[in-house]
Amino acid sequence: MQIGLIDIEPKIFNTAYMQIGTYHKLHGDTVEWWSPLTDHQFDFVCCSSLFDYTDKSEVPQRAICGGTGFDVTSQLLTPIERCDLDYSIYPKCKTSYIWFSRGCIRNCPWCVVPEKEGKIQSVSPKNLNPNGKYITVQDNNFFANPDWPAAIAWLGERGWPVDFQGVDARLLNKKMCDAMLTLRHHKQIKIAWDDPRQDLEPKLKEIIRFIKPWRLMCYVLIGYWYKTEDMDLHRVETLRRLGIDPFVMPFDRSDLYQRAFARWVNHKGIFKSMSWQQYWNRVRQSESVGRGWKVR
Ligand code: SF4
Repeated sequence: MQIGLIDIEPKIFNTAYMQIGTYHKLHGDTVEWWSPLTDHQFDFVCCSSLFDYTDKSEVPQRAICGGTGFDVTSQLLTPIERCDLDYSIYPKCKTSYIWFSRGCIRNCPWCVVPEKEGKIQSVSPKNLNPNGKYITVQDNNFFANPDWPAAIAWLGERGWPVDFQGVDARLLNKKMCDAMLTLRHHKQIKIAWDDPRQDLEPKLKEIIRFIKPWRLMCYVLIGYWYKTEDMDLHRVETLRRLGIDPFVMPFDRSDLYQRAFARWVNHKGIFKSMSWQQYWNRVRQSESVGRGWKVR
């Protein structure tokens, strides 16, 4: 059979497609990227999406669709879920996506993980990318997994630089920080300060006794609870003062304030050169004369 994969999120290396690729190749099928011009040559086509905001208007009716972007509860079929990742479909992918756990111990209301993956559970790491240069640890909450010491040992044995995506700052202690520092790192370690009602400053001060602050990037979710300009500024300026790199995630990208605040923080040239009030004034001025909001 000829299987077509529809790529509607070209900036993403979609691991579901990699597993579908492995499964079908093991069964003697061919797997190729779909396009409207080649549609006729495929016996069936699949479309996977990670984001609900991705435009899906071009997806053909006959496609079998899955992924969080279509339905948060959708899952790969078990035989496909068990498959390794076929990195050959993404020749430009230079990382290996590795999970040591699925699920999470927390239940943050904005997050799809509790509904999609449930409570935390250990899983065995899959294959490495033969063309990979580093490992992306995809766990939602790496240190909530009781088997994290074995995961650190596994990473240490591979010796590749590691990019930690999901480290729960609230759990971090000296032992965990020391364990991470035994590894080589690719980019900064990602933590998060998503809830403006939580005072994370004491915990962050403790963490930077063990890990240099510039080695940390902290996601800051804005716009979920209510309009929180003061609280958003407080979190971002606290991180700046501590030397930790803030990265703002707007909950509602259609909201001008959220988009502008994220740009002010995430564009480091702007963040270092002007205050929020200066930037916000410029954005509103620019908006009022119809010049758009992306100003320096
Ligand atoms: S800690 Fe992270 S992964 Fe876990 S529920 Fe909250 S946002 Fe989701």
